[in-house]
Amino acid sequence: MEGIIIASYLICGGGGEMLLGALDQLDLGSFIGAAKSVPYERVGGGVFPEVEVWIRRDDLIDPLISGNKAYKLFYNLIEARRRGASTLVTCGGAWSNHIHAVAAAGSRFGYRTVGVIRGEKPPKLSATLSDAERMGMVLHFVSRMEYRKRGEKDFFSRLDLQAGESYFIPEGGGNLLGVEGIQLLGEVIEDTMPVKFDQIWVACGTGATFAGLSLTMDRVRVIGVEVLKAGDSILRGVCEWGSRLRCANKLLDVARVDYRTALRESLIGGYHCGGYARYPDWLRSFHFDFEAETGIPLDPVYMVKVFNGLSDRISKGEIPIGSRILVLHSGGLQGRRAYIK
Ligand SMILES: *Cc1c(COP(=O)(O)O)cnc(C)c1O
Repeated sequence: MEGIIIASYLICGGGGEMLLGALDQLDLGSFIGAAKSVPYERVGGGVFPEVEVWIRRDDLIDPLISGNKAYKLFYNLIEARRRGASTLVTCGGAWSNHIHAVAAAGSRFGYRTVGVIRGEKPPKLSATLSDAERMGMVLHFVSRMEYRKRGEKDFFSRLDLQAGESYFIPEGGGNLLGVEGIQLLGEVIEDTMPVKFDQIWVACGTGATFAGLSLTMDRVRVIGVEVLKAGDSILRGVCEWGSRLRCANKLLDVARVDYRTALRESLIGGYHCGGYARYPDWLRSFHFDFEAETGIPLDPVYMVKVFNGLSDRISKGEIPIGSRILVLHSGGLQGRRAYIK
C-alpha cells in the first residue's frame, strides 16, 4: 500500500522510537484510532522536580494536520463532505497554524482550498504561506482593515472568491463543530491517560480547545493559559459554546453561576508575555533551556507560554507537591520558523 509510506514516519525522541500513523481517512473510527495512538511522555530532565508533569504529544497526530487543529477540523471536514462542498474557505495570518492545517487537509482529502490572508501580499511569502500554496491553497490577501470585518456574515461572499461550492471555516477553526471535535479528544484522553491526572493544561487562542475539554472531562480539571490579552472574550466564548452544547452535556449546566466561576478560575490570563505572538528574549531563553533539558520541541506562540505559566505557578507553590499534571501539546511547530531560523 503506497499510503503507508506517506502515512508513517519515525520520531526519535527521548522515549526511544515511536511509529505513528497519520490521518489518512476521513471517518470517525480511523480518526479515533489515530488519536488513541498519540503518545504520553513524562516531562523529564529535572525541570519540574516537585510535580509529576506529563505531555500528550498531539503535535504528532499527523505530520501536517497537526495538534488541536486536527480535532477542530475533523467534523468540519465531514460536514463539508456531507454538504457536497468542493472548496474549503478560511482565513488567518501569515504564520497561521490553522491555514497550514486547512491547506494540508484539503490536499489530503480532496478539497480545493482558499485562504483569506490578513495584510497586503508581501514580496516574499512566509514559510507557512509558501507551504500552503504548494499544498494547493489559493491565497487571497486583504488589508488589515478589511480583515477586521471577518466576523461579518457576508465577509467571504463580498470578496468574490468565485469559490464555487464552498464551505467556510472561521479563523482558528473556532466554531461549534470545532469544539465538538475537541470533545472527541477529551473522551480519548479519559480513555487513554496513563495515570490519573489532577489537572490538564492547554493553550487558549480562541478558547475552543479549552471549551471542548472542559465541557467533556469531568474527572480532571482543565486549566487554560491565554496566549493573548483576551479580557473576558475567551470566557464568554466558552460559555456560549457550552450553552449551545448543553443537551449533549447533561452533566454541566453553564448557566449556573458556580460553574461560570469555576471556568473563570480555570482560565489564566497573566502569561501572554506582552500579547499574541510576542516572544521576548527572556521567553526565548526559557524556551531553549526547556528544549535542551527535556528534548520536547515547543512553538513560540502557544506551547512555550503554557510551560512558562506552569513553571511560574509551580515555583510560587500554587500547585501542591506531588500533583499530576498533563500538558496538551497542541502542535504549532511549523510556526517556529517565524522566530527560529
Ligand atoms: C491554534 C492553536 C491553539 C489555540 O487553540 P484554540 O482552540 O483557538 O484556543 C493552541 N495551540 C496551538 C499550537 C495552536 O496552533
